[in-house]
Amino acid sequence: MNKHGLQAAVAKRRTFAIISHPDAGKTTITEQLLLFGGIVREAGTVKARKSGNFAKSDWMEIEQKRGISVTSSVMQFDYDDKRINILDTPGHEDFSEDTYRTLMAVDSAVMVIDAAKGIEPQTKKLFQICKMRGIPIFTFMNKLDRDSRAPMELVAQLEEVLGIEAYPMNWPIGSGRIFRGLYDRYNHRVEVFQPATAGRVFKKLTPDGQLENDDELASDEIYQEAKEEMDLISEAGNQFDAQKIAQGQQTPVFFGSALVNFGVQTFLDAYLEMAPAPGPHQTTTATEIEPTAEQFSAFIFKIQANMNPHHRDRIAFARICSGEFVKGMDVTLSRTEKSVRLSNVTEFMANTRENVESAVAGDIIGLYDTGNFQIGDTIHTGKAALAYPKLPQFTPELFMRVSPKNVMKQKSFHKGIQQLVQEGAIQLYTTYLTNQYILGAVGQLQFEVFKFRMKNEYNSDVLLEPLGHKTARWIDPEQLDEKMSSARNILVKDRNGAPLFLFENKFAERWFQDKYPDVQLTSKL
Ligand code: GDP
Repeated sequence: MNKHGLQAAVAKRRTFAIISHPDAGKTTITEQLLLFGGIVREAGTVKARKSGNFAKSDWMEIEQKRGISVTSSVMQFDYDDKRINILDTPGHEDFSEDTYRTLMAVDSAVMVIDAAKGIEPQTKKLFQICKMRGIPIFTFMNKLDRDSRAPMELVAQLEEVLGIEAYPMNWPIGSGRIFRGLYDRYNHRVEVFQPATAGRVFKKLTPDGQLENDDELASDEIYQEAKEEMDLISEAGNQFDAQKIAQGQQTPVFFGSALVNFGVQTFLDAYLEMAPAPGPHQTTTATEIEPTAEQFSAFIFKIQANMNPHHRDRIAFARICSGEFVKGMDVTLSRTEKSVRLSNVTEFMANTRENVESAVAGDIIGLYDTGNFQIGDTIHTGKAALAYPKLPQFTPELFMRVSPKNVMKQKSFHKGIQQLVQEGAIQLYTTYLTNQYILGAVGQLQFEVFKFRMKNEYNSDVLLEPLGHKTARWIDPEQLDEKMSSARNILVKDRNGAPLFLFENKFAERWFQDKYPDVQLTSKL
């Protein structure tokens, strides 16, 4: 691909994730988007994956049993001359670390909110991560086919709870049984809600935003109320500000219903106009790198093992930040400075994994991994060194001692642990003197998945002994004296060999600090 071709290809990319609290409708809306992308054959698979008909591997039984989506995957499709990459994120909060890293690989986010419930805890958490990154956030208020909260209240909540300016692109005319449709000030039309009929019905608005005189909807009270609110917002509400949107300080708000496919396409069309194509990326080795640079570069944000139970493979998910990927190319792995040939690579079309011919900045590629890659790794072409910043890690709060049930099966135990840790499924610590293994996680479910996968994928039964909540604090190795370890803390090494204490509680930490006032403890590495 020449420079011009690369520029055009990058400009077409839209890479985003949907963030929401479980049950807000993320899966349903994803399915609708895939349908618009013409992926009719696969329609239903996102759901099916949830209900278990599309189990990628045995351990998804855990998902089935609990009815939650644990894994994240990538879906790519074309729509309206754009190439869209949706990065799915696990809904359950115990897997927020996974989601967190996935959010590092997107250029914008869509926040789906259940309009009957308003902002829920998980939405708030994920929103904070997007805000920290300063990426554009688009809001879809879902389930308007049901009785919803007052739209004014929903919009006010965005400002009050999340601290982001809201700019309603359209406004619901009623909800639930009295749902009439959307007053769409952006497209200058009313989109009429007609649940029984397929197809979309619009009423054009006059230049001053009125329905035609003889339109019966004009005399409808529900419509009048919505129109008044919209007028009020136009006069006293926020001004549309493209720059604020680009920096994640203002969110365009859309209303609709994913289930009955109402307002979703209106959302998608406007979203694609406003959402950014891939931009430059910050590196630690040089200044920024442009997505259209000739040098290919990518970072790995996720590793997933055994997606296919028939082939024991591992896939490293890489977000391309610059240049073009060409099958069979040789790249340098920044961490080791070794050369790796990328010959076995997949890209993600809905549920099928098709072989990639070429992909450009903004795309996600899946690299078959035989143990070369780690989360956070940078790969690149060319002689000039290049590395992306380390991905942030969550500090685990829950800990368990882990050992093999059968001491004769040490080999599979070690292999399993090593791979799952590398995959980022769980954190591993080793006690200083006795070399025992301790696992750290953000949530309980991570341990259960770990145990299940050790058994299913590595044929290793493990014993988990809860140590409960601990406060993890790293210490400068220079300042460490092994005598500092006591009954109220456990001295361990993380997987990079860095020492840290697992304190029983805050008191134990304070007691320690009082005793060793010169010692610097940090909550993150
Ligand atoms: P997720 O957990 O965010 O992926 O949520 P799902 O897409 O699985 O939706 C959760 C539940 O809400 C399912 O029973 C959906 O059928 C339902 N749902 C999703 N969108 C809508 C909607 O627009 N209206 C109504 N009434 N139900 C919806």
